Amino acid sequence: MLFDTHAHLHFPDFADDLDAVLERARAEGVRGMVTIGTDRETNRAVVELAGRWPDVWATVGIHPHDAAEATEADFEEMEGLARSEAKVVGLGEMGLDFFRNLSPRDVQESVFRRQLVMARAVAKPVVIHCRDAHAETLAILRDEKAGETGGVMHCFSGDVEVARRCLDLGLLISLAGPVTYKNARALPDVARFVPADHLVVETDCPYLPPTPHRGKRNEPAYVALTAARIAELRNVDAAELGEVTTRNAARLFRLRLD
Ligand SMILES: [Zn+2]
Ligand SMILES: [Zn+2]
Repeated sequence: MLFDTHAHLHFPDFADDLDAVLERARAEGVRGMVTIGTDRETNRAVVELAGRWPDVWATVGIHPHDAAEATEADFEEMEGLARSEAKVVGLGEMGLDFFRNLSPRDVQESVFRRQLVMARAVAKPVVIHCRDAHAETLAILRDEKAGETGGVMHCFSGDVEVARRCLDLGLLISLAGPVTYKNARALPDVARFVPADHLVVETDCPYLPPTPHRGKRNEPAYVALTAARIAELRNVDAAELGEVTTRNAARLFRLRLD
């Protein structure tokens, strides 16, 4: 069994064949998927999509790329969805992206903090996006007591030291397709380092397909390839890794898998 903790199933990339995509995922043993909102429009879309299937859940958030565009009404709507929709199991993605800097850094930081405060108010875990901003992200997570709601560092891209500091804050580490790449940098070490009860897996589809699908569209079925590579690195059975990461995902998002 497997669980894709981070997908963007509502993106236009899946508009033509989503049913087939979900069927292929289930055939690979994917027991659940979380489709992740990034702005006002996608926050509406994820809730609508998750309502259509029992094995798809949603999160609502403002991505750092979209931080500069976010209005007061967007935050209010996001909080309303988080409070009223049972299928909304977390807030995010939120965080800092100092690689692309599509929003000014100070705006990214204030939008990030505001969502962490909201997560504590609605008592739901957070999905964190962090690119080239580990020190700043960790400082904000500590300041805003992210450990109280719990959360996950999605598509983890740091090294073992960064992973250790995330674990100290009480967060889970989610590994995506890049751990399968030849140029995986520190990720194989991270895959071996993270304690079994703090590890989850994701696709971040349609982005970041694992080997051998690079250059194509990613989809939840391929989370099996990422999990298999992590199992190999940890020298454990793939089935065992699938089971423990699925259990961790269910605990993180406080959901029951039938
Ligand atoms: Zn992200
Ligand atoms: Zn994402």
